[in-house]
Amino acid sequence: MAKTKRAYVCNDCGADFPRWQGQCSACGAWNTITEVRLAASPQVARNEKYAGYTGSAEGVVQTLQDINLQEVPRLSSGFKELDRVLGGGIVPGAAILIGGNPGAGKSTLLLQTMVGLAHHFPTLYITGEESLQQVAMRADRLGLPKDKLKLLSETGVETICQVAKKEQPKIMVIDSIQVMHVAEVQSAPGSVAQVRESAAALTRYAKQNNVAIFMVGHVTKDGSLAGPKVLEHCIDCSVLLDGSSDSRFRTLRSHKNRFGAVNELGVFA
Ligand SMILES: [Zn+2]
Repeated sequence: MAKTKRAYVCNDCGADFPRWQGQCSACGAWNTITEVRLAASPQVARNEKYAGYTGSAEGVVQTLQDINLQEVPRLSSGFKELDRVLGGGIVPGAAILIGGNPGAGKSTLLLQTMVGLAHHFPTLYITGEESLQQVAMRADRLGLPKDKLKLLSETGVETICQVAKKEQPKIMVIDSIQVMHVAEVQSAPGSVAQVRESAAALTRYAKQNNVAIFMVGHVTKDGSLAGPKVLEHCIDCSVLLDGSSDSRFRTLRSHKNRFGAVNELGVFA
């Protein structure tokens, strides 16, 4: 029988501890630490897990001079404002978090972007919240061409990675990260542990396969993004889309960007 491992994770910052404590020693919050059960992973899963973040699972050592310094060409999203906020386009292998309150138009923006990109690159849109019909209806309403973009309705990260290995997309959307789950974490989708492990697994996939992944993240009422700090250490770029559904304008702002300046602002009508 598989043995279950326990960990104690802070719901605010995502720090983990070997035993329960009343106050998180990482962020100082009280009563935020909950128990998380991790299924004992078989050896294969362990190897997968510890395979390099940057892709070289074989552990190839190089000298500095062997490393290609040529800047990776960025892919244009087709939206000038989005490109600018991302620091000049989409970097292959980047994990990008698009946050925003429900109704801010994250899915609409990404659907429009992906439909445009699908004419130039293989793309894959993973919908975990809306059905395929709902996504198709939105594309219809927006008058978008529907012949190129590939869709998948799935919330299991392992299945998503398997499908992606087959489909070989260059750019992927995960809508949303809050409904994703990995099998080895035995807590409910949406919990800090699931969101964190799902984002980490998808980021690993992005790096190893040089795929840019956009992850949609809903901001909760108190303004936190299922604990933004939970995700911030594993993603490359965090962008927040602001605006209510009755306003005509939306602003897009970068909070963290490994590949460009932060606090770049884009305005959409
Ligand atoms: Zn904490």
